[in-house]
Amino acid sequence: ENRPELAYEVNQAAEVAGYLWQKGWAERNGGNITLNITEYVDDEIRALPAISEVKQIGKVLPYLKGCYFYCKGTQMRMRDLARWPMANGSIIRILDDCASYVIIADQPVMPTSELPSHLAVHNYLLEKGSPYRASLHTHPIELIAMTHNKKFLEKDVATNLLWSMIPETKAFCPRGLGIIPYELPSSVKLADATIEALNDYDVAMWEKHGVFAVDVDIMSAFDQVDVLNKSALIYIAAKNMGFEPDGMSQEQMKEMTVAFNLPK
Ligand code: 13P
Ligand code: ZN
Repeated sequence: ENRPELAYEVNQAAEVAGYLWQKGWAERNGGNITLNITEYVDDEIRALPAISEVKQIGKVLPYLKGCYFYCKGTQMRMRDLARWPMANGSIIRILDDCASYVIIADQPVMPTSELPSHLAVHNYLLEKGSPYRASLHTHPIELIAMTHNKKFLEKDVATNLLWSMIPETKAFCPRGLGIIPYELPSSVKLADATIEALNDYDVAMWEKHGVFAVDVDIMSAFDQVDVLNKSALIYIAAKNMGFEPDGMSQEQMKEMTVAFNLPK
């Protein structure tokens, strides 16, 4: 109400949740969103009592001491979150042991089962001094399909193919698509592999499962996944027309990288 920035961030999560459903990336409860909202938290929120028991994260994350997050609820649907973000998600406070949390608002909705990955990533971003405050896990059909072929699991094979489909993909996903070999969903091993991949990429694929993306806000994280998946769709469209797409030439790619001042 009188916290316009916080409301803006949560409304943006709701808007993105609607897009995820419309794109067919969010079957049932598929995917999750977390937002580091610590900078928008005022004394009134800090004084809110816990409405859950103390829950363990499964990892010690020293940079998250006293931080606050908006988290999609586990088993909640993106299409419901799009309309009712505070009934399908909740706000958690990380406790001083940096290993546990409590829910403080709005309802005792248990956070996403992928919380270990999300929080490990937020911890890593703060450690690096990154301005990124949002993380997104979703199930984009065509990108996931690519990970069912071994050749696309090799480092940067998918990145280079996707970049070469249309100039915008490299411009708006300049660090490319990392690959994370299959791990059990919601596991600490998956969380560890995710932070390692995000050293070099803003978007990484969980093999045969989905993507994990980070950015300054949730709309920007969504945009990075959207441009990558657009490239995958162009690739598939060409294949369906019966040919292997040429892709932009190495020269055209280099020209782009220089003109747009891209990292690699
Ligand atoms: P949650 O409903 O627990 O967020 O899980 C969805 C998902 O995509 C797990 O990988
Ligand atoms: Zn998933």
